[in-house]
Amino acid sequence: MIIKEKIKDFLPLKNLNNFYVVADFDRTITNGNSQTSWSILAHSNLVSKSYIQERQTLYDYYRPIEISETIDINTKMNLMKEWYKKHISLFVKYQITEEIFEKAATDLRIMQFRPGAKEFIEFLYKNNIPLIVISAGIGNFIESFFKHNNCYFDNVYISSNKIIFQNGIAVGVEDNIIHSLNKNEVSLPKYILEKLKDKNNVILLGDQLSDLNMVDSSKHNLVINIGFQSDDYPLETLTSNYDIVCESKDDYIKLKNLLFSL
Ligand SMILES: [Mg+2]
Repeated sequence: MIIKEKIKDFLPLKNLNNFYVVADFDRTITNGNSQTSWSILAHSNLVSKSYIQERQTLYDYYRPIEISETIDINTKMNLMKEWYKKHISLFVKYQITEEIFEKAATDLRIMQFRPGAKEFIEFLYKNNIPLIVISAGIGNFIESFFKHNNCYFDNVYISSNKIIFQNGIAVGVEDNIIHSLNKNEVSLPKYILEKLKDKNNVILLGDQLSDLNMVDSSKHNLVINIGFQSDDYPLETLTSNYDIVCESKDDYIKLKNLLFSL
């Protein structure tokens, strides 16, 4: 675990009432080799080969755009929305059912917690610390995953893309698509904002640089950014952008002990 010097003074955290947690889902709450909620169906044996091929064609075209450092942000944002919409139209075209979504989300071979993440979430619940999950993935999977793992506590709120089903079959997506580049624009419902209003300190959990945009640090007393090491970036990139970096060997138990000294 690599901890920035300036953060050490705050550890372990005091006055937990002042904190809430904002977390990415894919490969932050789930482990680094889990499929993401966009790729999970293609890695299950629940969908047709043609869906898998069409999804791959979209991925091969749009993924380089997503990580490109030369395309300007507005162009990128529009293309990301286009990608998500095209992918969702595949769910509709192939009449993917709600049942398939639920089965895929509970298949441990494709998606599972990082070690200790469940205990970390239980700790937040027991200590009344809100957990806001902001994901550019698919909220239906995330919700099923939390429910299946008995972690969908009332301190947990999931802000993500929600597929709409009619008679159990996918027909579209709710408005306001969240993609990797607009996670900063997520608007939380009033009842959640009410819960957060007296809390000035935030723990942010992510694995991508774009996850840092989930919280506007200028609006808070203290934001502690915690990043999980991934193959997507050299370690130095993460350590220069995140306050604490959990390396591959570090789990949530270690993180919990560091933050809360238990
Ligand atoms: Mg992620």
